[in-house]
Order: sequence, then structure tokens, then C-alpha cells
Amino acid sequence: MQMFTSVLVLSIVFAVFVITDINSYKERKVKSVKSIAQVVGTNSISTLQFQDEDAAKEILSELHNVAPEIINAAILDKNGNLFASYNRPGSDTFIIPSNKNVGSSTFHDHSLLVNNPIVNENEIIGNVFLNVELNELQQIKKSKYEITAVLLIVALGFSFLIGAAVQPYISKRLLRLLKTMNEVTESGDYSKKISDDGKDEISVLIKVYNNLMLQVRKNQQKKDEFIGIASHEFKTPLTSIKGYLDLLDLMENDEGKKQLVGKAQRNVNKLEVLIKDLLDVSKIQSGQLELNMQRFNIDELIKETIAAFQMLSPTHHLILKNTSGEAFVYADKQRIEQVLINLLSNAIKYSPGEKEVIISYEKNDTDMIIKITDFGIGIAEEERLNIFERFYRTKDISVHISGFGLGLYICRDIIKRHNGKIWVETQGKGSSFYFTLPLKTKEPVLQQKV
Ligand code: ADP
Repeated sequence: MQMFTSVLVLSIVFAVFVITDINSYKERKVKSVKSIAQVVGTNSISTLQFQDEDAAKEILSELHNVAPEIINAAILDKNGNLFASYNRPGSDTFIIPSNKNVGSSTFHDHSLLVNNPIVNENEIIGNVFLNVELNELQQIKKSKYEITAVLLIVALGFSFLIGAAVQPYISKRLLRLLKTMNEVTESGDYSKKISDDGKDEISVLIKVYNNLMLQVRKNQQKKDEFIGIASHEFKTPLTSIKGYLDLLDLMENDEGKKQLVGKAQRNVNKLEVLIKDLLDVSKIQSGQLELNMQRFNIDELIKETIAAFQMLSPTHHLILKNTSGEAFVYADKQRIEQVLINLLSNAIKYSPGEKEVIISYEKNDTDMIIKITDFGIGIAEEERLNIFERFYRTKDISVHISGFGLGLYICRDIIKRHNGKIWVETQGKGSSFYFTLPLKTKEPVLQQKV
């Protein structure tokens, strides 16, 4: 683009210079030929008056010495009849043009034709035609074009070199900005800043990006604070409502009223789960999610959790396949149970109309690998990473199936803090969630702000 602009501007500038130069040469040439015609005319006055053709021819033949570039010359009397003429040796005979505009000058391809009046005592008594060769103009044109072409090539070269030197600097910074923006979009980590101390438009763009990220972080912080405070404040009244409902349930004997209390209890339980999740999110955000590490047999925990969960889930059959046998891990038992419950309830929630959820786990030298498979709606490939982000729900389900998009975010954090991994795969119908836990009694990673 830069090269194109430079070449365009230079071409216009050179074209203006060349045209002006050629025009000024033409003006000078016309002036000088006219002054020769003037002299010839003045000298021919008496020859015209006395009809002395020989003398007129003599005057014209002198032109051969004075101005050898004159190819043809002619003197016409006041009636326009040829009085005397001259043709440079070797040149064609001069044909007087029919259009005899006195005082005119006409440029042809290689010649200039001047028609100058012969004036005596304010009366035109004839006119002089001079046809002049313009080889010099052709040469001037040729050399100007050559110089222009050379200068253009040089300018093009310079422009290319400057462009090549500046381009990487500009594109490197733009690409860095683009890469960081993509990373931020993918990871949701708005703490990424870009340092740049330039003063150009790209620096302004980078500053705007940094300010925008700062603003996003501030807003996020406010939102996290609000979630933390709100969920904390909800917890006490909710515990109290739950207590009163349990009491009511015990005290009430009327079946109809008992059913209403049961409905209220179920909804309060839902609310309790949500508030617990929000509190966990708030703890994760502030780095306060604590782990109570202990050594326990995970084989036992999985079996117990499945058994308890099966009682609450009449719609699906939880099938245990391929167990590992006794396997000890060093982990937070309650939190691992929370992960299991979350994945199991998702497997049931997102496979409506299906009958089975399959659980299997095996150990290798270093890890315990747990897999929970359902045959439900599955997850599109492009969404498999996003579902572990907080508040993320896949596009098509959010309307049909209730949820807040917090469970997997919490699971991922818990597993990460245990030095494990969590991921999802899809095989034909439904999806399989996996997570790993190290079998070695490693210390968990230190609490860190996520
Ligand atoms: P919630 O279920 O409350 O929306 P989660 O964090 O547990 O929140 O899940 C996040 C999103 O991941 C869900 O909204 C859903 O779109 C998708 N998802 C989770 N588990 C499954 C599953 N087993 N099958 C299909 N989609 C799932």
C-alpha cells in the first residue's frame, strides 16, 4: 500500500514536471522561430514591393547557414500566392497548408510550422512560413522519460526497503495484540496486559486494550464481591427456613398440607445447592477454597456415592463397570464426592429419556482415572473447553434444562487443586466425563487466586 501510494504520488509529480518542461521548451522554440520569421519578413519587405523574387530566394537560402534546423521556408504575397520558397537540401518540397492562420504556430510529430505576417507601415503585405525540424524536442522527451523511469525505480526500491524495515515492527505489535486478545477470549483470563512504549496509533490501540481489560477486571471483581456477599447473606435465612420447614413436616399430619411442605422443601434444597455453588465460586475467586486432605480408599467412596445417588435417581440406572479395587488417594473426600455428585447429576440431567449412566474407573502407575458416561444430548466439539468456565451453558440447552453453569467450573478447580485433570469426550451419542487423581500421596498445590 505504502509502495503503491509512493509510486502514484511520484508518477503525478514527475508527469507534471515533464509536461511543464516540454511546454516551456515549446514556448521558447516558438518564440525563437518567430523571431527568425520576423527577421526574414523585415528583410523581404522590399523584395515584395519590387517583386524581386531572386532577392527573396537569396534571403531564404541564407537560412541554411543561420538556422540549419529549418526544413522549409516560404514567402507568400498579400494575396496568398507563393512568392519565394526554400527547401533544405535533401528534404521534400514544402506544401503550403490550406489553413493560413497568420501568426499561428502548429506542432506536428517532428516539426513546428510557424506562419508570421510581413508588416509594412501597419499593413500586412505578405507572410513567412517556416517549417522547423524538432529532433531536439524528441531527444528532450526521451531523456525526460528515461530519467523519470530511473527515479521511479529508485523511489520504488527505497519505498520497498523502508516498508520492509517498518512492516515487521508494525505487524509484530499488531499480531501480538491479536494473539493476546485471542488468548484472553479463550482462557477468560483478563489479567493479560501488553507493554508498549511507542507513540503511534498501534500504541493507542494497545493502551485502549489495556484499559478495557482493567475495566473488565474491576467489573468482575465487583461482581465477585457481590456474589460472595449475597450468597453469604442468603445462607443464614435459608438455613432457618429449611429448619422451620423440617419442623412443619414433622408437626403436620394432614397429607395435603404435608405435600405442600414437601414441595417447599424441594425448592429450598435447590436454592441451597445454588447458594453453596455461589459460595464455592466466591471462595475460588478469592483463593479461599480450602481442602481437608486425608488418605482414603477412593474405590469405597465411589461405590458409596453411587449407591446413595441411585436412591435419589429413579429414572436412570447407574451401572458400575470396571472398578479398580482398593486404591488410596490423598485428597479432600468431601470435595471429591462433590465432583462425583456433580458429574452424576449432569449425566442424568442431560440425558432425558435415557435409562443408563455408566461409571468405570481404573488406576495406572500414577493416577486413578474415573469415567462417567451418559447417552444424552452430548456436547459440540467447539464447546468442550468452554463448559468448564463459570456461568457457561451450551447454547441449545439453556432454554430446556435448568442450571447455572457453575458445577463444572467448581469441579475443575477442585480437581486442579488435587493435581488432577478433568475433561470431556464424546463418542457417538452422549458424552464421557473423565477426571484423574494422583495415587501418590502428593501435597496439593497451594491455594491460589484463580
Ligand atoms: P449446569 O448444569 O448447572 O448448567 P455445569 O457447570 O454443571 O452447569 O455444566 C455446564 C454446561 O455444560 C451445562 O449447562 C451443559 O450445557 C453442559 N454439560 C454438562 N454436563 C453435560 C452432559 N453430561 N451432557 C451434555 N452437556 C453437559
